[in-house]
Amino acid sequence: KVVSVTGASGYIASWLVKFLLERGYTVKASVRDPNDAKKTEHLLALDGAKERLHLFKADLLDEGSFDPVVEGCECVFHTASPFYFTVNDPRAELIDPALKGTLNVLRSCSKVPSIKRVVITSSMAAVVYNGKSLAPDVIVDETWFSDPDFCEKLKFWYMLSKTLAEEAAWKFTKENGIDMVSLNPGLVVGPLLQPTLNTSAESVLNLINGAKSYPNTTYRWVDVRDVANAHIYALENPSAVGRYCLVGTVIHSSEVVKILSKLYPDLTLPEQCADDEPPMPKYEVSKERAENLGVKYTPLEASLKDTIESLKEKNFVSF
Ligand code: NDP
Repeated sequence: KVVSVTGASGYIASWLVKFLLERGYTVKASVRDPNDAKKTEHLLALDGAKERLHLFKADLLDEGSFDPVVEGCECVFHTASPFYFTVNDPRAELIDPALKGTLNVLRSCSKVPSIKRVVITSSMAAVVYNGKSLAPDVIVDETWFSDPDFCEKLKFWYMLSKTLAEEAAWKFTKENGIDMVSLNPGLVVGPLLQPTLNTSAESVLNLINGAKSYPNTTYRWVDVRDVANAHIYALENPSAVGRYCLVGTVIHSSEVVKILSKLYPDLTLPEQCADDEPPMPKYEVSKERAENLGVKYTPLEASLKDTIESLKEKNFVSF
């Protein structure tokens, strides 16, 4: 069985490619620069890569560049999208690649009759940012959609990019009769396969790197291996349909610091909150649909430990 993964060198996609190869799939994988060893060496070293991994050059903003990547595939996993919180030019750096890029990939898919399903890696960023109150009695579920105007007003550019991309993907796939499933992970942590630092692993690094304070944020955490596996369940489970929130634990950064200090008692960790506001409240994200799909969440403590051990092994931090 042949499948395609866009943005294969990324944090989540690298685990997805690894698990797909382990399950016997042939993987057509897109990277921006196949000659950049930092982006490809860890993929080429995976078990089964020699026989069944094929790398292609494609850029989200290069119209038609995904045609050869998706050709002859049964499923396309569209994971490629820039993930940065700090940008100079939100449109050029985030919104265009996310939105135009998703439509570019889907247009390529629409020309290939062998494609039975497209699985897109959306985000909780496309779910919760709509101004609705988040409080302990609130359960966020897949019916929620972030509001582009709300994101724009608050200059939440990454959230805006993911919301516009997912909205456009639903519209395009409905109009073109493509079976699409969307996965909406929270903040993804867990070990890195790639040698470079991605944004969500950096958020853990920032807590253990001598920071004085932790952010006043309640994040939605999920393990990278659970997210990668969910992509495969979304392909292999014929009844998979619609959106799936992927969130194992919702907790405030102060609680994360407590877990870290239990795991690494000798580590100097931030002791105070970055602002004097009341702590951002906790709420819930429904697990029902994801668990029905087959997702079993790794405990956050294990994910954090594995993230830190991986950051140490790759020399992003030493202690
Ligand atoms: P990474 O930064 O590790 O991966 C992003 C990937 O997108 C890279 O392979 C990158 O390619 C590719 N990409 C970016 N811009 C372009 C472009 N113009 N053309 C082609 N490829 C491009 O991030 P993650 O693995 O964390 O993210 C993967 C997906 O998961 C994204 O869609 C992200 O929005 C989503 N997500 C991530 C979460 C997280 O916490 N990590 C949470 C929820 C969703 P290159 O290597 O060449 O830069």
